[in-house]
Order: sequence, then structure tokens, then C-alpha cells
Amino acid sequence: MSTAAAVTRAIRTIPDFPYPGIQFKDITPMLADAALVAEVVDALAAPYADAGVTKVLGIEARGFILAPLLAQALGAGFVPARKQGKLPHTTVQAAYALEYGTDVIEMHADAISEADIVLIHDDIIATGGTATAAAELVGSVGAAVAGYSFLLELAFLNGRDELDDALAYHTLVRVEE
Ligand code: AMP
Repeated sequence: MSTAAAVTRAIRTIPDFPYPGIQFKDITPMLADAALVAEVVDALAAPYADAGVTKVLGIEARGFILAPLLAQALGAGFVPARKQGKLPHTTVQAAYALEYGTDVIEMHADAISEADIVLIHDDIIATGGTATAAAELVGSVGAAVAGYSFLLELAFLNGRDELDDALAYHTLVRVEE
């Protein structure tokens, strides 16, 4: 079985969580399978093996699970992007739209320098708002984005269209509906 097929099988959909109408993709069964996680990390790293990635920016909260493993596989450092007010040192911020209102993510201002080449990782891309804000964080400190990396793309939400299409993009699994 391909890695993508194994991941598809190991992720379960929880209807109406955390809100009515949301089909929540629960990746925890996949995470409990050590051999599969190792395969997943290899598959996520492979497209960026020669991209000169120096930092992997993982997005709170589930982006924190695979991003450090992906960073290690690429010989890069891990940088957390967190919800507003969680990071203790000086931060840069980027806002993004939610269905109702806006949200803000932050990263330490000194976590990434102009010399860095940054891969942005999250578990899932839905509308693309979070990943777009993450790219803004990287741009605000003058660093280059190597590309985007996701475990799962909810393709019917067209989040990919929101991202800078000049940048590399990789997702292991596409969910079409
Ligand atoms: P977005 O900004 O709309 O692309 O949303 C991406 C973020 O929301 C990621 O951090 C995901 O973990 C989370 N997310 C969005 N939709 C789902 C879903 N159906 N199941 C699980 N997580 C989701």
C-alpha cells in the first residue's frame, strides 16, 4: 500500500466536531503507528530534500507534531508559530480571516533570519488562511519561503488557491469531498 493510502486509512473523520457541519480529520490513529509516521516523515521530506531548507515553521497546534520530525529529516531547525499571547519573547504577528472575525499567529522575531530558507508545515490545509499568515510571518523578517508542506489537503475548500503559486507546494493526501 502507498504511504498516502495508508494515511488515508489511518485518519478518521469525526462528524460535527468541534462545531456542527465540520468533518474533523482526526490524525491520532496515524500518529500511534510508529512505522507509518516514519514513512510519512520521509514522504513529506522527499520533495524538499534539495531545497536548502534551514528552518521548518510548524503551526499550532497539530502542525507541532510532524514539523519537528520533518525538520530533523531535512537537517533543519524547528520554529513554532503560535496563537497570540503564547510566546514569551518579542514576536512578529500576522492576522488571518476566520468565518467570523480574525485570528492572529505569532513567531519569535529572532527565530528566523534573512538568511533562512523556510518550509511551512501544517497537518491540514483547509481554507488556506493559516498557511498564508505563516508565509507573512516569514516574509516579515526578510526570509525566503521554500514552500508549503501538508499532510492533508481538503481540496474542496480550495485553500491552495490562496497561497503564493510561485512557491513549491506538497501535500501527501488530497481529500476531494
Ligand atoms: P485553514 O486556515 O482554513 O487552512 O485551516 C487550517 C487549520 O485548521 C489547520 O491548522 C488544521 O489543523 C485545522 N483544520 C481545518 N479544518 C479541519 C478539519 N476538517 N479537521 C481537522 N483540522 C482542521
